[in-house]
Amino acid sequence: MKHTAAAGYGGPLEAVGFVLLGLILAGCTAPLETPLDAAPGVAGRSAQAPPGREGDRMRMVERQLLTRDITDPRVVRAMRRVPRERFVPPDQRQRAYEDRPLPIGYRQTISQPYIVAYMTQALRLTPDAKVLEVGTGSGYQAAVLAELAAAVYSIEIITQLAERARDTLAELGYANVQVRQGDGYAGWPEQAPFDAIMVTAAPDHVPQPLVDQLAVGGRLIIPVGQNRQTLTILTRTEDGVEQDTTLPVLFVPMTGEAERR
Ligand code: SAM
Repeated sequence: MKHTAAAGYGGPLEAVGFVLLGLILAGCTAPLETPLDAAPGVAGRSAQAPPGREGDRMRMVERQLLTRDITDPRVVRAMRRVPRERFVPPDQRQRAYEDRPLPIGYRQTISQPYIVAYMTQALRLTPDAKVLEVGTGSGYQAAVLAELAAAVYSIEIITQLAERARDTLAELGYANVQVRQGDGYAGWPEQAPFDAIMVTAAPDHVPQPLVDQLAVGGRLIIPVGQNRQTLTILTRTEDGVEQDTTLPVLFVPMTGEAERR
C-alpha cells in the first residue's frame, strides 16, 4: 500500500511538505475566514459538476485513489461525482483537487481526498445505510457519504461552518443529508442506531455515546490520539465491540466535551 502524506496541521508540519514517511496528515489549522460563494445547484440526490473541473476530478481519482488502495467501485464512483471545488472557499478553488487537505476557515480543514475515500471505504456502506458523521466541516465528506447511503446525519460544532455546509449541500441537491450544529461527542441519540459512524476530528479516546449509538454489525471509524492519531475502526457485535487500528493520521482535535474528559 502506497501512502503519500498530504499537507500539515499547523505551521511546522505544513512546512514539512508532502512526504512524511507514510504519515497521512488529514487536517491543518491554517486560519482562513473566506466565505464560500454560492453557485446555483441542481435538484436531485447527486451533485453535478460545474464545467471545467471534471477533468481535474477524474485525474484526482486516477492518481490519488486508484494508485493507492481505493478499490470499492461505489466509493470510486462517489469520488468521481462530488464537486470538491464547491466545498472550498473561492481562494482555494484552484487547489481543490490537490493531494492534500485545504483550509476552510475558522482554523479548520477539508480532508485530503484520499483520506475521505479511505474512511468512506472502511465503513462498507450499503445503499440503505443510516450514517452519522461528527465534524461536518465543509460538508464534502457528508456529500460523499450521501452518494452511498440512504441517510446522513452530520454534526458540526462551529455554527458558521454548520450553516455554510448546510447551504452548500442544499444547493447541490443532497436531500438525504441533515446538518446539525452542536457537540458531536454526544452523537445524535434521536436518530440512533446508526449502521456507520465517521468522526473527522480527533479525541484522545473513543466517545462512549458514539459506541452506544452503533447498530449491531455497524462500523465506527475515528482518529484517536493527541498530537498524532491512529485511525481506529470499531465494529459492534452481539457481544461487544471489536477494535482494529489502521493508518497513522493527523486531524484537527475534537473540541467540546472530548477535551473535558
Ligand atoms: N469532514 C469535513 C469535511 O468534509 O470538510 C472535515 C472535517 S475537519 C477535519 C473537522 C471538523 O470537526 C471541524 O469542522 C471541526 O469544527 C469539527 N469538530 C471538532 N470538534 C467537534 C465536535 N465535538 N463536534 C462536532 N464537530 C466538531
